[in-house]
Amino acid sequence: MFHALVHYHEVALKGRNRGFFEQRMVRHLRSALKNLKAIQVEALPGRIRVSFPEERSWECIHDTLSRTFGVTNFSFARSAPISYVSSDLTKLKEAIRRNIPSNAFTTFRVLTKRAEKRFPKTSMDIDREIGADICEHTGKRVNLSKPDLTIYIEILKHDAYYAFNKEPGPGGLPVGTGGTVLCLMSGGIDSPVAAYRMMKRGCRVVFVHFHGRPYLSRASEEKVRDLVTLLTSYQLSSTLYLVPFGEIQQHIVLGAPAPIRVVLYRRMMMRIAEELARQEEAWALVTGDSLGQVASQTPGNIQVVSEVTGLPILRPLIGMDKIEITEQAQAIQTFETSIEPDQDCCTLFVPPHPNTRARLSEIQHVEKGLDIAGMVRQGIEYVERANYAYPA
Ligand code: ATP
Ligand code: MG
Repeated sequence: MFHALVHYHEVALKGRNRGFFEQRMVRHLRSALKNLKAIQVEALPGRIRVSFPEERSWECIHDTLSRTFGVTNFSFARSAPISYVSSDLTKLKEAIRRNIPSNAFTTFRVLTKRAEKRFPKTSMDIDREIGADICEHTGKRVNLSKPDLTIYIEILKHDAYYAFNKEPGPGGLPVGTGGTVLCLMSGGIDSPVAAYRMMKRGCRVVFVHFHGRPYLSRASEEKVRDLVTLLTSYQLSSTLYLVPFGEIQQHIVLGAPAPIRVVLYRRMMMRIAEELARQEEAWALVTGDSLGQVASQTPGNIQVVSEVTGLPILRPLIGMDKIEITEQAQAIQTFETSIEPDQDCCTLFVPPHPNTRARLSEIQHVEKGLDIAGMVRQGIEYVERANYAYPA
Protein backbone atom coordinates (compact mmCIF):
# COMPACT_ATOMS: atom_id res chain seq x y z
CA MET A 1 0.00 0.00 0.00
CA PHE A 2 0.97 3.61 -0.64
CA HIS A 3 -0.33 6.46 1.46
CA ALA A 4 -0.97 10.14 1.43
CA LEU A 5 -0.62 11.67 4.87
CA VAL A 6 -2.76 14.75 5.09
CA HIS A 7 -2.27 17.49 7.65
CA TYR A 8 -4.77 20.16 8.51
CA HIS A 9 -4.70 23.38 10.39
CA GLU A 10 -4.47 22.32 13.99
CA VAL A 11 -5.53 25.59 15.59
CA ALA A 12 -8.73 26.06 13.60
CA LEU A 13 -9.77 22.48 14.21
CA LYS A 14 -9.10 22.24 17.93
CA GLY A 15 -11.76 21.79 20.53
CA ARG A 16 -15.15 20.21 20.35
CA ASN A 17 -15.59 20.80 16.62
CA ARG A 18 -12.57 18.83 15.67
CA GLY A 19 -14.31 15.51 15.04
CA PHE A 20 -16.92 17.28 12.95
CA PHE A 21 -14.26 18.98 10.80
CA GLU A 22 -12.30 15.77 10.38
CA GLN A 23 -15.37 13.81 9.35
CA ARG A 24 -16.27 16.47 6.79
CA MET A 25 -12.84 16.23 5.27
CA VAL A 26 -12.87 12.43 5.24
CA ARG A 27 -16.26 12.42 3.56
CA HIS A 28 -15.12 15.00 1.05
CA LEU A 29 -12.03 12.99 0.15
CA ARG A 30 -13.94 9.72 -0.14
CA SER A 31 -16.34 11.34 -2.51
CA ALA A 32 -13.67 13.16 -4.54
CA LEU A 33 -11.63 9.97 -4.94
CA LYS A 34 -14.49 7.55 -5.44
CA ASN A 35 -13.34 6.65 -8.96
CA LEU A 36 -10.01 5.28 -7.74
CA LYS A 37 -9.83 1.58 -7.11
CA ALA A 38 -9.57 0.22 -3.54
CA ILE A 39 -8.92 3.58 -1.97
CA GLN A 40 -9.23 4.03 1.80
CA VAL A 41 -9.60 7.31 3.62
CA GLU A 42 -9.29 7.26 7.38
CA ALA A 43 -8.97 9.78 10.21
CA LEU A 44 -6.00 8.97 12.43
CA PRO A 45 -5.01 11.01 15.46
CA GLY A 46 -4.03 14.45 14.12
CA ARG A 47 -3.95 13.54 10.43
CA ILE A 48 -5.90 11.85 7.67
CA ARG A 49 -4.50 8.88 5.81
CA VAL A 50 -5.41 8.06 2.23
CA SER A 51 -4.22 4.55 1.32
CA PHE A 52 -4.08 3.22 -2.23
CA PRO A 53 -2.67 0.07 -3.85
CA GLU A 54 -1.49 1.56 -7.13
CA GLU A 55 1.28 4.11 -7.22
CA ARG A 56 -0.10 5.80 -10.34
CA SER A 57 -3.16 6.92 -8.33
CA TRP A 58 -0.91 9.50 -6.72
CA GLU A 59 -1.33 12.00 -9.54
CA CYS A 60 -5.09 12.11 -9.05
CA ILE A 61 -4.76 12.16 -5.26
CA HIS A 62 -2.24 14.99 -5.47
CA ASP A 63 -4.62 16.99 -7.63
CA THR A 64 -7.52 16.35 -5.26
CA LEU A 65 -5.59 17.25 -2.12
CA SER A 66 -4.34 20.47 -3.73
CA ARG A 67 -7.94 21.60 -4.00
CA THR A 68 -9.36 20.25 -0.74
CA PHE A 69 -9.99 23.06 1.71
CA GLY A 70 -8.77 22.36 5.19
CA VAL A 71 -5.61 20.67 3.95
CA THR A 72 -2.46 22.50 5.09
CA ASN A 73 0.01 20.09 3.54
CA PHE A 74 0.35 16.48 2.47
CA SER A 75 2.96 13.97 1.46
CA PHE A 76 3.35 10.75 -0.46
CA ALA A 77 4.31 8.20 2.18
CA ARG A 78 5.21 4.57 2.61
CA SER A 79 5.09 2.67 5.86
CA ALA A 80 7.28 0.24 7.77
CA PRO A 81 6.52 -1.70 10.96
CA ILE A 82 8.14 -0.62 14.21
CA SER A 83 8.35 -2.37 17.54
CA TYR A 84 7.35 -0.53 20.69
CA VAL A 85 9.03 -3.20 22.81
CA SER A 86 12.49 -3.19 21.35
CA SER A 87 12.15 0.28 19.74
CA ASP A 88 13.98 -1.30 16.84
CA LEU A 89 14.11 0.74 13.62
CA THR A 90 15.76 -1.84 11.35
CA LYS A 91 12.77 -2.34 9.06
CA LEU A 92 12.24 1.39 8.73
CA LYS A 93 15.89 1.95 7.83
CA GLU A 94 15.80 -0.79 5.20
CA ALA A 95 12.66 0.60 3.67
CA ILE A 96 14.02 4.12 3.49
CA ARG A 97 17.27 2.90 1.91
CA ARG A 98 15.30 0.96 -0.67
CA ASN A 99 13.16 3.90 -1.76
CA ILE A 100 15.30 6.98 -1.22
CA PRO A 101 15.79 8.93 -4.49
CA SER A 102 19.59 8.68 -4.30
CA ASN A 103 20.33 10.58 -7.48
CA ALA A 104 18.24 13.55 -6.52
CA PHE A 105 20.26 14.99 -3.64
CA THR A 106 23.64 15.39 -2.03
CA THR A 107 22.60 16.80 1.35
CA PHE A 108 19.66 15.80 3.51
CA ARG A 109 18.09 15.92 6.93
CA VAL A 110 15.61 13.77 8.83
CA LEU A 111 12.56 15.31 10.49
CA THR A 112 10.60 13.02 12.79
CA LYS A 113 7.24 13.63 14.42
CA ARG A 114 5.86 11.26 16.99
CA ALA A 115 2.08 11.18 17.00
CA GLU A 116 2.48 8.29 19.42
CA LYS A 117 4.55 9.54 22.34
CA ARG A 118 4.72 6.10 23.91
CA PHE A 119 7.38 5.13 21.44
CA PRO A 120 10.52 4.80 23.59
CA LYS A 121 12.84 6.83 21.35
CA THR A 122 12.43 10.58 21.04
CA SER A 123 12.04 12.34 17.71
CA MET A 124 15.63 13.55 17.96
CA ASP A 125 16.92 10.03 18.67
CA ILE A 126 15.18 8.81 15.55
CA ASP A 127 16.48 11.72 13.42
CA ARG A 128 20.03 10.87 14.46
CA GLU A 129 19.73 7.13 14.06
CA ILE A 130 18.14 7.24 10.61
CA GLY A 131 20.47 10.05 9.53
CA ALA A 132 23.55 8.06 10.51
CA ASP A 133 22.23 5.04 8.65
CA ILE A 134 21.70 7.01 5.44
CA CYS A 135 25.15 8.63 5.70
CA GLU A 136 26.72 5.25 6.10
CA HIS A 137 24.93 3.59 3.18
CA THR A 138 24.78 6.41 0.65
CA GLY A 139 27.75 8.61 1.53
CA LYS A 140 25.46 11.69 1.51
CA ARG A 141 25.91 14.53 3.99
CA VAL A 142 23.56 15.98 6.58
CA ASN A 143 22.64 19.63 6.28
CA LEU A 144 20.08 20.78 8.83
CA SER A 145 19.53 24.30 7.57
CA LYS A 146 19.33 23.96 3.79
CA PRO A 147 19.17 20.34 2.71
CA ASP A 148 18.38 19.18 -0.83
CA LEU A 149 16.13 16.51 0.59
CA THR A 150 14.11 16.25 3.79
CA ILE A 151 13.00 12.85 4.96
CA TYR A 152 9.80 13.17 6.93
CA ILE A 153 9.08 10.44 9.43
CA GLU A 154 5.87 10.07 11.39
CA ILE A 155 5.61 7.58 14.20
CA LEU A 156 2.07 6.29 14.56
CA LYS A 157 0.54 3.55 16.63
CA HIS A 158 1.68 0.48 14.74
CA ASP A 159 3.82 1.80 11.93
CA ALA A 160 6.26 4.46 10.97
CA TYR A 161 5.59 6.45 7.81
CA TYR A 162 8.29 8.05 5.75
CA ALA A 163 8.09 10.54 2.91
CA PHE A 164 10.49 12.51 0.76
CA ASN A 165 8.15 15.36 -0.10
CA LYS A 166 5.73 17.82 1.46
CA GLU A 167 3.21 19.54 -0.78
CA PRO A 168 1.21 22.62 0.18
CA GLY A 169 -2.58 22.32 0.44
CA PRO A 170 -4.92 25.26 -0.12
CA GLY A 171 -5.58 25.85 3.61
CA GLY A 172 -8.98 27.11 4.71
CA LEU A 173 -11.71 25.02 6.29
CA PRO A 174 -13.47 21.90 5.00
CA VAL A 175 -16.37 22.68 2.68
CA GLY A 176 -19.69 22.41 4.49
CA THR A 177 -18.43 23.50 7.90
CA GLY A 178 -19.43 27.11 7.18
CA GLY A 179 -23.02 26.47 6.17
CA THR A 180 -24.58 27.31 2.81
CA VAL A 181 -24.34 30.69 1.07
CA LEU A 182 -25.83 31.91 -2.20
CA CYS A 183 -23.42 33.64 -4.59
CA LEU A 184 -24.59 36.09 -7.25
CA MET A 185 -22.52 35.09 -10.28
CA SER A 186 -22.25 37.49 -13.17
CA GLY A 187 -19.76 35.82 -15.49
CA GLY A 188 -17.21 38.57 -14.81
CA ILE A 189 -13.82 38.21 -13.14
CA ASP A 190 -14.88 39.05 -9.62
CA SER A 191 -17.79 36.87 -8.57
CA PRO A 192 -16.04 33.50 -9.21
CA VAL A 193 -13.19 34.68 -6.97
CA ALA A 194 -15.70 35.74 -4.32
CA ALA A 195 -17.32 32.29 -4.47
CA TYR A 196 -13.91 30.62 -4.19
CA ARG A 197 -13.02 32.63 -1.12
CA MET A 198 -16.21 31.68 0.69
CA MET A 199 -15.72 28.01 -0.22
CA LYS A 200 -12.26 28.28 1.23
CA ARG A 201 -13.77 29.41 4.53
CA GLY A 202 -15.89 26.27 4.59
CA CYS A 203 -19.07 27.45 2.90
CA ARG A 204 -21.07 25.35 0.48
CA VAL A 205 -21.84 27.79 -2.31
CA VAL A 206 -25.06 27.75 -4.33
CA PHE A 207 -25.02 30.00 -7.42
CA VAL A 208 -27.55 32.31 -9.04
CA HIS A 209 -27.16 34.08 -12.35
CA PHE A 210 -29.51 36.68 -13.80
CA HIS A 211 -29.52 36.64 -17.58
CA GLY A 212 -30.91 39.05 -20.13
CA ARG A 213 -32.65 36.60 -22.38
CA PRO A 214 -34.60 37.15 -24.60
CA TYR A 215 -33.02 40.59 -25.04
CA LEU A 216 -29.43 39.44 -24.80
CA SER A 217 -27.57 36.37 -26.04
CA ARG A 218 -26.87 33.25 -24.04
CA ALA A 219 -23.19 34.16 -23.73
CA SER A 220 -23.18 35.21 -20.08
CA GLU A 221 -25.14 32.12 -19.16
CA GLU A 222 -22.74 29.79 -20.95
CA LYS A 223 -19.84 31.45 -19.18
CA VAL A 224 -21.47 31.09 -15.80
CA ARG A 225 -22.09 27.40 -16.51
CA ASP A 226 -18.41 26.96 -17.34
CA LEU A 227 -17.37 28.88 -14.24
CA VAL A 228 -19.63 26.82 -12.00
CA THR A 229 -18.17 23.66 -13.55
CA LEU A 230 -14.67 24.89 -12.68
CA LEU A 231 -15.63 25.86 -9.13
CA THR A 232 -17.41 22.56 -8.53
CA SER A 233 -14.02 20.83 -8.43
CA TYR A 234 -13.61 22.43 -4.98
CA GLN A 235 -16.97 21.50 -3.46
CA LEU A 236 -17.85 18.41 -5.57
CA SER A 237 -21.47 19.27 -6.17
CA SER A 238 -23.14 22.56 -7.05
CA THR A 239 -26.51 24.00 -7.86
CA LEU A 240 -26.92 26.91 -10.26
CA TYR A 241 -30.14 28.93 -10.55
CA LEU A 242 -30.66 30.80 -13.81
CA VAL A 243 -33.15 33.63 -13.49
CA PRO A 244 -34.56 35.31 -16.60
CA PHE A 245 -34.14 38.99 -15.87
CA GLY A 246 -34.84 40.70 -19.19
CA GLU A 247 -38.58 41.13 -18.64
CA ILE A 248 -38.03 42.42 -15.12
CA GLN A 249 -35.57 44.96 -16.46
CA GLN A 250 -38.16 46.05 -19.00
CA HIS A 251 -40.59 46.81 -16.20
CA ILE A 252 -37.96 48.80 -14.35
CA VAL A 253 -37.04 50.75 -17.47
CA LEU A 254 -40.65 51.78 -17.98
CA GLY A 255 -40.98 53.08 -14.42
CA ALA A 256 -37.55 54.50 -13.51
CA PRO A 257 -35.20 57.22 -14.74
CA ALA A 258 -32.06 55.90 -16.41
CA PRO A 259 -29.41 56.97 -13.84
CA ILE A 260 -30.89 54.88 -11.01
CA ARG A 261 -31.68 51.75 -13.01
CA VAL A 262 -28.54 49.86 -12.05
CA VAL A 263 -29.35 50.27 -8.38
CA LEU A 264 -32.92 49.12 -9.00
CA TYR A 265 -31.67 46.07 -10.92
CA ARG A 266 -29.40 45.24 -8.04
CA ARG A 267 -32.15 45.57 -5.49
CA MET A 268 -34.34 43.25 -7.56
CA MET A 269 -31.51 40.74 -7.81
CA MET A 270 -31.09 40.82 -4.05
CA ARG A 271 -34.79 40.26 -3.42
CA ILE A 272 -34.96 37.28 -5.77
CA ALA A 273 -31.68 35.92 -4.41
CA GLU A 274 -33.04 36.21 -0.88
CA GLU A 275 -36.04 34.11 -1.85
CA LEU A 276 -33.80 31.42 -3.37
CA ALA A 277 -31.53 31.59 -0.35
CA ARG A 278 -34.44 30.79 1.93
CA GLN A 279 -35.31 27.78 -0.24
CA GLU A 280 -31.72 26.59 -0.03
CA GLU A 281 -31.42 27.42 3.68
CA ALA A 282 -28.50 29.68 2.89
CA TRP A 283 -27.51 32.05 5.67
CA ALA A 284 -25.95 34.77 3.49
CA LEU A 285 -25.66 36.23 0.01
CA VAL A 286 -22.26 36.69 -1.64
CA THR A 287 -21.24 39.22 -4.29
CA GLY A 288 -18.02 40.12 -6.06
CA ASP A 289 -18.26 43.81 -5.13
CA SER A 290 -15.03 45.69 -4.58
CA LEU A 291 -15.37 49.14 -3.09
CA GLY A 292 -15.49 51.95 -5.65
CA GLN A 293 -14.83 49.72 -8.66
CA VAL A 294 -17.94 50.75 -10.60
CA ALA A 295 -20.98 52.93 -10.00
CA SER A 296 -22.97 50.23 -8.24
CA GLN A 297 -20.15 49.70 -5.76
CA THR A 298 -19.81 53.14 -4.22
CA PRO A 299 -20.41 53.48 -0.46
CA GLY A 300 -23.82 55.07 -1.01
CA ASN A 301 -25.04 52.53 -3.53
CA ILE A 302 -23.79 49.58 -1.53
CA GLN A 303 -25.90 50.84 1.36
CA VAL A 304 -28.98 51.33 -0.76
CA VAL A 305 -28.62 47.87 -2.32
CA SER A 306 -27.95 46.11 0.99
CA GLU A 307 -30.99 47.64 2.59
CA VAL A 308 -33.51 45.42 0.74
CA THR A 309 -32.54 42.15 2.37
CA GLY A 310 -32.46 40.93 5.92
CA LEU A 311 -29.75 38.41 5.06
CA PRO A 312 -26.10 39.29 5.56
CA ILE A 313 -24.42 40.17 2.25
CA LEU A 314 -20.85 38.93 2.19
CA ARG A 315 -18.44 40.80 -0.05
CA PRO A 316 -15.14 38.97 0.32
CA LEU A 317 -13.42 41.17 -2.31
CA ILE A 318 -14.53 44.51 -0.88
CA GLY A 319 -11.00 45.52 0.16
CA MET A 320 -9.13 44.11 -2.83
CA ASP A 321 -8.17 45.93 -5.97
CA LYS A 322 -8.57 44.69 -9.50
CA ILE A 323 -4.98 43.52 -9.87
CA GLU A 324 -5.20 41.37 -6.75
CA ILE A 325 -8.54 39.93 -7.82
CA THR A 326 -7.22 39.23 -11.32
CA GLU A 327 -4.19 37.40 -9.93
CA GLN A 328 -6.43 35.25 -7.80
CA ALA A 329 -8.73 34.54 -10.77
CA GLN A 330 -5.68 33.37 -12.71
CA ALA A 331 -4.51 31.21 -9.84
CA ILE A 332 -7.85 29.40 -9.63
CA GLN A 333 -8.11 29.26 -13.44
CA THR A 334 -11.39 31.09 -13.84
CA PHE A 335 -9.80 34.14 -15.49
CA GLU A 336 -9.71 32.84 -19.07
CA THR A 337 -13.41 32.02 -18.99
CA SER A 338 -14.35 35.27 -17.27
CA ILE A 339 -12.74 37.46 -19.93
CA GLU A 340 -14.58 35.82 -22.84
CA PRO A 341 -16.87 38.43 -24.38
CA ASP A 342 -20.49 38.37 -23.30
CA GLN A 343 -23.43 40.68 -22.78
CA ASP A 344 -23.99 41.51 -19.15
CA CYS A 345 -27.64 42.14 -18.33
CA CYS A 346 -26.68 45.07 -16.08
CA THR A 347 -25.68 47.08 -19.13
CA LEU A 348 -29.16 46.73 -20.56
CA PHE A 349 -30.91 50.13 -20.84
CA VAL A 350 -28.32 51.81 -18.65
CA PRO A 351 -26.60 55.14 -19.40
CA PRO A 352 -22.78 55.32 -19.53
CA HIS A 353 -22.74 57.39 -16.32
CA PRO A 354 -25.16 55.98 -13.79
CA ASN A 355 -25.87 57.67 -10.50
CA THR A 356 -23.11 56.93 -8.00
CA ARG A 357 -25.08 58.18 -5.01
CA ALA A 358 -28.67 57.08 -5.30
CA ARG A 359 -30.89 58.45 -2.54
CA LEU A 360 -32.89 55.82 -0.71
CA SER A 361 -35.98 58.05 -0.56
CA GLU A 362 -35.93 58.52 -4.33
CA ILE A 363 -35.44 54.79 -4.91
CA GLN A 364 -38.28 53.92 -2.58
CA HIS A 365 -40.52 56.47 -4.26
CA VAL A 366 -39.86 54.98 -7.70
CA GLU A 367 -40.33 51.44 -6.42
CA LYS A 368 -43.79 52.36 -5.10
CA GLY A 369 -44.84 52.64 -8.74
CA LEU A 370 -43.50 49.18 -9.58
CA ASP A 371 -44.99 45.79 -8.86
CA ILE A 372 -42.02 44.59 -6.84
CA ALA A 373 -43.70 41.50 -5.38
CA GLY A 374 -44.95 40.53 -8.83
CA MET A 375 -41.46 40.81 -10.30
CA VAL A 376 -39.97 38.67 -7.55
CA ARG A 377 -42.68 36.08 -8.17
CA GLN A 378 -41.98 36.18 -11.89
CA GLY A 379 -38.24 35.66 -11.33
CA ILE A 380 -38.84 32.69 -9.06
CA GLU A 381 -41.49 31.19 -11.30
CA TYR A 382 -39.30 30.98 -14.40
CA VAL A 383 -36.06 30.08 -12.68
CA GLU A 384 -34.13 27.14 -14.16
CA ARG A 385 -32.05 24.89 -11.97
CA ALA A 386 -28.91 23.04 -13.02
CA ASN A 387 -26.85 20.58 -11.00
CA TYR A 388 -23.13 19.91 -11.28
CA ALA A 389 -20.99 17.12 -9.91
CA TYR A 390 -17.25 16.52 -9.67
CA PRO A 391 -15.83 14.14 -10.66
CA ALA A 392 -18.47 14.06 -13.40
P1 ATP B 1 -17.98 40.76 -11.79
O1 ATP B 1 -16.57 40.74 -12.29
O2 ATP B 1 -18.23 39.72 -10.74
O3 ATP B 1 -18.97 40.74 -12.90
P2 ATP B 1 -18.08 43.56 -11.81
O4 ATP B 1 -16.82 44.21 -11.46
O5 ATP B 1 -18.44 43.41 -13.26
O6 ATP B 1 -18.13 42.15 -11.08
P3 ATP B 1 -20.75 44.44 -11.33
O7 ATP B 1 -21.13 44.06 -12.70
O8 ATP B 1 -21.15 45.74 -10.77
O9 ATP B 1 -19.19 44.37 -11.07
O10 ATP B 1 -21.30 43.31 -10.36
C1 ATP B 1 -21.05 43.32 -9.00
C2 ATP B 1 -21.57 42.05 -8.40
O11 ATP B 1 -22.98 41.93 -8.56
C3 ATP B 1 -21.01 40.83 -9.11
O12 ATP B 1 -19.75 40.45 -8.60
C4 ATP B 1 -22.08 39.81 -8.81
O13 ATP B 1 -21.92 39.29 -7.50
C5 ATP B 1 -23.35 40.62 -8.87
N1 ATP B 1 -23.92 40.56 -10.24
C6 ATP B 1 -23.81 41.48 -11.21
N2 ATP B 1 -24.46 41.09 -12.32
C7 ATP B 1 -24.99 39.88 -12.06
C8 ATP B 1 -25.77 38.94 -12.80
N3 ATP B 1 -26.13 39.18 -14.05
N4 ATP B 1 -26.14 37.79 -12.20
C9 ATP B 1 -25.78 37.55 -10.93
N5 ATP B 1 -25.03 38.38 -10.19
C10 ATP B 1 -24.64 39.55 -10.73
MG1 MG C 1 -19.89 42.23 -14.07
